[in-house]
Amino acid sequence: AKSAGIGKLRFYQPSLKDKMQERIAFESALKEALTKQEFFLCYQPQVSASNGNTICLEALIRWQHPQYGLVMPDRFIQLAETMGIIAPIGAWVINAACAQLARWHAMGFSDLRVAVNLSAQQLLVSELEQTVSEALQTYHLEGKDLELEITESVLMQDPERAIERLGALQKLGVRLSIDDFGTGYSSLGYLRVLPVNSLKLDRSFVWDMDKGGKGLEICATAIGLAKKLDLEIVAEGVETKEQLAQLRHLGCDLLQGYLFAKPLTVDAADTFLENVHMP
Ligand code: C2E
Ligand code: CA
Ligand code: CA
Ligand code: CA
Repeated sequence: AKSAGIGKLRFYQPSLKDKMQERIAFESALKEALTKQEFFLCYQPQVSASNGNTICLEALIRWQHPQYGLVMPDRFIQLAETMGIIAPIGAWVINAACAQLARWHAMGFSDLRVAVNLSAQQLLVSELEQTVSEALQTYHLEGKDLELEITESVLMQDPERAIERLGALQKLGVRLSIDDFGTGYSSLGYLRVLPVNSLKLDRSFVWDMDKGGKGLEICATAIGLAKKLDLEIVAEGVETKEQLAQLRHLGCDLLQGYLFAKPLTVDAADTFLENVHMP
């Protein structure tokens, strides 16, 4: 009988066992990614709100895998943390970003700096100082050429140790930036005790600043706070000209977002740097 009716259609439903096998395969691929040189960095420009010059490039990691294709950090950074392998990956990022910055300096972009994201585990291990100071030495960079971005949640995992680690990093002269500022449910008290240079307004606030939400007031308040504390303020996720106009009006220092550039490959970043960008 022709009874291959709807009820008999078979959909592929991975069993729990399949899912676990997939996860194990993904994890073992991630473990090997570093030695197989499958990571690379993209760079997203942060431009001056007043003249459009590129001041900094944020390094954002990508994983190019033969089977999984291009894997974005949201899919593997947390996993790498739980697997306990984020420190070597993070050290690779610091080295690669410093090597690239040295190349840009040699091309004549001598005031440029790079920003690197730090994970909690990476901040808490003591080798971090050594990794940073060796990278600066190897590539003949100064501390101020490198900015470390940390989120409030990273600080809050172990505040005392974080403050201690950051103090050690400050001695190297590197810049420190609070990422996703305003999303961490933390007190602002850490701004008194930490050697912070800049705040990065989270893109969720920037997103609704031109959509009638509370983002505009939050951005205005954060920018005002940064000014009073003499901190640099960066807006991330700038996508529209309205946001740009408002952020400039509010006196935001640096702007980062798709309106200027998506995260760029090194070649695309080279081209970007040749030009001034002010939409
Ligand atoms: P993040 O540090 O907040 O980085 C900004 C993210 O926002 C990037 O996503 C970037 O592509 C995206 N973005 C930039 N401009 C816009 C915009 O105008 N609109 C929208 N909708 N999005 C924008 P990406 O590259 O996927 O990175 C995601 C997160 O992964 C980063 O968030 C960061 O927390 C983490 N990450 C990336 N690279 C590293 C790394 O080397 N180490 C560590 N520990 N974390 C990293
Ligand atoms: Ca960041
Ligand atoms: Ca961010
Ligand atoms: Ca984020």
